[in-house]
Amino acid sequence: MPVPKKRLPSSRRDRRRSHHALKATGTVECPSCGADTLPHHACPACGTYKGRSVAEGQASKDTKKAEKKAFLKRAEEGTEEHDHDHEDHDHETESKKDSKKEKKEDKK
Ligand SMILES: [Zn+2]
Repeated sequence: MPVPKKRLPSSRRDRRRSHHALKATGTVECPSCGADTLPHHACPACGTYKGRSVAEGQASKDTKKAEKKAFLKRAEEGTEEHDHDHEDHDHETESKKDSKKEKKEDKK
């Protein structure tokens, strides 16, 4: 590994560092919501790019997943509200619970 022969004077070090300052990035106004956004980037406020919604697809997928997860959790807890009746059939989760109970009873 190369090693510098002499210590650089502070003036030379500071001259080198005179170009290290970061400049503020330019922003453009979002055409659909008016928020300041980075140029050539989707708007973080409304999720549109060139007047077209680009964040919705992924977001709706995620929300659908979350909704299903929440529904399954509620179903497991038995707190899911029903707007239909079960005169001729049981819920999958209920029948599973029943079968588990039956198995435990069989062991005894
Ligand atoms: Zn916007």
